[in-house]
Amino acid sequence: MGRNVNSKYWDEELETLPREELEKRQLADLQEIVQFAYDHAPYYKRSFDEAGVKPSDIKQLSDLQKFPFINKKTQRDTQGVGSFLGELAAVPEEDVVFISTSSGSTGVPTMSPFTKKDFDEFQDTESRWFWQIGMRPNDRYVHALNFSLYVGGPDVIGAQNLGALCIWGGTLPSERLLFILKTYQPTVIWTSPSYAWQLGEKALKSGYDPKKDFSIKKIIVAGELGGSIDATRKAIEDIWGAEVFDFYGLSDIFGACAAQCEYHDGLHIAENHILVETVDIHTGEILPPGETGELVFTTLRKHARPLIRFRTGDIGRIDRTPCKCGRTHGRIHILGRKDDMFIVSAVNVFPSDIEAVIREQHGITGEYLIRIFEKDFTSKYAVEIEKNSDNPKDDAAVADEVSAALKARIGVKPASVIVHPDGGLNTRSEHKSKRIIDERKLDYSI
Ligand SMILES: [Zn+2]
Repeated sequence: MGRNVNSKYWDEELETLPREELEKRQLADLQEIVQFAYDHAPYYKRSFDEAGVKPSDIKQLSDLQKFPFINKKTQRDTQGVGSFLGELAAVPEEDVVFISTSSGSTGVPTMSPFTKKDFDEFQDTESRWFWQIGMRPNDRYVHALNFSLYVGGPDVIGAQNLGALCIWGGTLPSERLLFILKTYQPTVIWTSPSYAWQLGEKALKSGYDPKKDFSIKKIIVAGELGGSIDATRKAIEDIWGAEVFDFYGLSDIFGACAAQCEYHDGLHIAENHILVETVDIHTGEILPPGETGELVFTTLRKHARPLIRFRTGDIGRIDRTPCKCGRTHGRIHILGRKDDMFIVSAVNVFPSDIEAVIREQHGITGEYLIRIFEKDFTSKYAVEIEKNSDNPKDDAAVADEVSAALKARIGVKPASVIVHPDGGLNTRSEHKSKRIIDERKLDYSI
């Protein structure tokens, strides 16, 4: 490939662009894509006209704030309307080479189309993340993600284009995956954080020592928040003797839109592809960079289905201060999904806050279940945990400790803490765990 394997950057010029240059590029791409969307996607023509805005109104990046938002519901409502690809699509079907769909976990699955150019740029971005975490052509890589319709499936092509030896694992049963780890000695793997942890435990129970019997040096995790929770990342790193990197993707955009660098302080987002805004969860008002709110993404270069001011439903913030790694693209910190957030005594609580506390406590396994319910017109939460079999304390003492730790970190105590023996919680599932039971009847649609 002629690329210098000693360079820390996949594309040094792009990744270290001075902020001013980066914003200049963003503005040119924004003007082009908004015009393209207006000219070719029936939905945008209608909604811009109704809002009284036109593409030529964009003279600077902040002019985008005059344009209307879209969200998941917009995607659902326009899908299949007028054509197979629907009213948000801006190219004819013959220009589309790939579609992925969302999991449908919050309603009808939505479809994300890519032109050949969209797809190639998607994979170049994925190569950039793989390179960023230190993957090089001499690595062996297992892509242990779902290939069925999922946008993360094709990311393996990004690793191949980088020159790594790729093993298209998919969602294998853990026995098969452990066999691959032992026989082929891969050095990098990508899976979900809960599965990385469970696979490590399974390996230990099957008589393997992941640190000695396997060669895994780097673990990529995505799909759940664990990779950004220090205590969870450390727990996985301790089992494997490997470094864990968190990636963040959206079915509507790329398998990974953002990734941690070696400093693990937020995830660099591809700002050449995505313009990030942060807005108030309730009012949609623009918040200054650095403040926490709902992340709103505009895709700057995806032509098959441009997303102009897409409310992601993810709560977080963007940090555009310089990173020690030298990359100038901002770093996002994600707190959780808007629909997972709940408010107890006027405090915003995310399941990820609870997970962080539970994973840091001694004498418990780290498995947990959170139940969110309504009582007296307010939300409450209850937590179930597992006590280690060698923990001499009685259940009441363990429950008190966990309750006090949650109160100290989050500000509000759980309504109850139920203590189970080791293995007593049925939360160890393959690949993606169900750890939150939401019994509320309030409408949290986005
Ligand atoms: Zn960095």
